[in-house]
Amino acid sequence: MKTVEIIYRYEARDTPARMLPPDSRTALLRLDEGNRGFAALLDHVNDESGEIQQIIPVDPRDLGLLPDETGTLKQRPFAVILGCSDARVPIELIFNEGPNDLFVIRVAGNGLGSEVLGSLKYAVEHLGGTLKLIVVLGHSGCGALTAAVDSFLNPHEYLAVATQHALRNILDRLLLVVQASARKMLAAFGPDVVHRPGYRQALIEASIVTNAALAAYTVQQEFAAGANNELQAVYGVYLLETREVWVPRPGGVKGTGLAAPPRDVAGFADFGEAVARSDRIASYLKSE
Ligand SMILES: [Zn+2]
Repeated sequence: MKTVEIIYRYEARDTPARMLPPDSRTALLRLDEGNRGFAALLDHVNDESGEIQQIIPVDPRDLGLLPDETGTLKQRPFAVILGCSDARVPIELIFNEGPNDLFVIRVAGNGLGSEVLGSLKYAVEHLGGTLKLIVVLGHSGCGALTAAVDSFLNPHEYLAVATQHALRNILDRLLLVVQASARKMLAAFGPDVVHRPGYRQALIEASIVTNAALAAYTVQQEFAAGANNELQAVYGVYLLETREVWVPRPGGVKGTGLAAPPRDVAGFADFGEAVARSDRIASYLKSE
């Protein structure tokens, strides 16, 4: 088995400032490339012995080692990432990024609660100089969506959280997404789909990606659209199994990486179709 080292390299000498993406497209490419690099790092780790090194350069200015003329360390992230609190999804690590690169908001189920919206508003209003992208990142096997699906499939389970306001607050927002995903699967596969052994898991995974896409759509409308078209919201699902970011692509097109959310009702209809018809969701319905 190979030894893998991920090194954050701080160089305190007078290095040129690390490049920041000039626009949302470049920011998206940087995150996609970073994630692919991270995923590939561990791809063949069991094949043979040896060492693999991944070096993430860190600008000394981002640690205050080379203060600018004002002597302060400015916050200058190029992307906001709204992710889940799940410990298996360490945001900077999975995108090969370091200090001062990402403005990270993490909350169970990556939903748009009031503190999340407040943090997004702060970022958009105060970090506009460098900020180019807002990412909503779900992940496979998300516990929050799993709980929502289980409440949807067995409503008596809702009683366990009915009196717990803090948990209910997260769950209630997700139930609509689960309902929409369930309807789409009925339409795509017929009424018998609910009896297939992998249905629960397929519904969980369809709900996870729909939740991320809906949140990204909301963020695009609420924050990005008014920001001189320089800011773009995108979404994706981090797959614990492969460490890659996935979204359904129309026509069954293969590929990894983040994508823009649907733009309108018709876009969401196409999106729902792409989710239901994706290899990933189909694989759950075939298994077990
Ligand atoms: Zn989660």
